[in-house]
Amino acid sequence: MTDRADVIVIGGGIVGTSAAFFLRRRQRSVILLERGLTGQQASGVNFGGVRRQGRALSQLAMSNRALDVWYRAQALLGEDVEFLPSGHTRVCYHAHDAEYFHRYAADARAYGLDLEVLDGAAMFRRLPFLGPEVLAASISPRDGHANPRLAAPAFGRAAARLGASLVENTEIVRVEKEAGGFRVESAAGAVWRAEQLLVCAGAWAGALSAQFGEPVPLVARGPQMAVTEPVPYRFGSSMGVYTSIKEESVYFRQVARGNLVLGGGLSGPADVSTRRASVLPANTVGQLAQFRRFVPALATLNVIRVWSGVEGYLPDAEPVIGPSVTTPGLFYAFGFSGSGFQIGPGVGETLAELLAVGRTEIALDPFSIARFGRMAHHAVPEAGVSASTASEA
Ligand SMILES: Cc1cc2nc3c(=O)[nH]c(=O)nc-3n(C[C@H](O)[C@H](O)[C@H](O)COP(=O)(O)OP(=O)(O)OC[C@H]3O[C@@H](n4cnc5c(N)ncnc54)[C@H](O)[C@@H]3O)c2cc1C
Repeated sequence: MTDRADVIVIGGGIVGTSAAFFLRRRQRSVILLERGLTGQQASGVNFGGVRRQGRALSQLAMSNRALDVWYRAQALLGEDVEFLPSGHTRVCYHAHDAEYFHRYAADARAYGLDLEVLDGAAMFRRLPFLGPEVLAASISPRDGHANPRLAAPAFGRAAARLGASLVENTEIVRVEKEAGGFRVESAAGAVWRAEQLLVCAGAWAGALSAQFGEPVPLVARGPQMAVTEPVPYRFGSSMGVYTSIKEESVYFRQVARGNLVLGGGLSGPADVSTRRASVLPANTVGQLAQFRRFVPALATLNVIRVWSGVEGYLPDAEPVIGPSVTTPGLFYAFGFSGSGFQIGPGVGETLAELLAVGRTEIALDPFSIARFGRMAHHAVPEAGVSASTASEA
């Protein structure tokens, strides 16, 4: 087994597998180390929203790059990850949110995100199924959704076909800098070495960054998911309610088979040690009440399954992406705070570029881990509370 490479990637979610894939396309040798199986954690159990609209403007350049990868996914990977570029529509119930839709659409245009905002009668003519309380809708025609169960494993397999070494069922417990590069050690005592190290360990990344003197206020929460029985296919666009009242938020998408996958509302608990996230029944009941308010005609649908997943949240709802401040050759990408699935392949491609050529056109300053050094003396708010976008998958 290869125990030395140009780059070691820790974590086989959508970010780590796509980074490994794009690193191989740049001829960097790669070892990807994953504690379980690729795509087994958040990347494999999420809602599947491939949504740019609603993101912080600072994320849009990366998010556009990611969307470009989603559009090319089948050609790049040689596998279908069920990406459907069928649009994303978000709606609101409050006048200040409708005003925000217009403001955001104007601001986002400068970043290459074109949105159409409809109000009142024009909106109900286009979207007659919306509940009577809806005031405005913002439509992003080029966004869409994909199958999370397929995406990260497909990137992993494609990386392996290009020569990456994928090592699953291997937990890394010790990471350190030594002369000429990095040494990483598994719980079973196996050792790998590389010139560069990329930590893409999701909600668990803090245990690794702390070993380089860079602790982060990362907390785990479990977004609540449900899926209904199948009904005739009607909704191409992924749909969501935008609101600053977390209990009001709900979003759904319909898969080709007819089932509606839904999420939103309050999160449930997630435990990084057991790697489990629970669904609280009260949250599902709340979610369904909001689902009926959003599209009353769907009120009679039965839920056939619920689930959650372990997601890492940072207090400002921005991820950490980019170089370490303490350790040359070390890079991070984690803490996607509820919206890393869409942007993941763009992060992977950007990191591959950064590691291979030492720079990227995408501005990474807002995502620097250095901000937590600066925030060290500030109280850390409860996870996700400040994350208005986090409830909008
Ligand atoms: C229920 C749910 C719904 C969501 N919905 C959406 C959505 O619709 N749209 C969207 O954009 N985002 C969504 N998200 C967020 C998105 O899924 C995540 O932000 C994204 O998948 C994070 O990818 P990742 O690769 O950083 O992390 P992960 O997928 O968590 O992967 C990290 C990997 O690192 C491995 N690892 C950790 N520590 C170690 C170690 N020490 N050694 C070896 N391996 C290790 C883990 O086993 C894991 O496989 C949702 C999340 C959840 C949970």
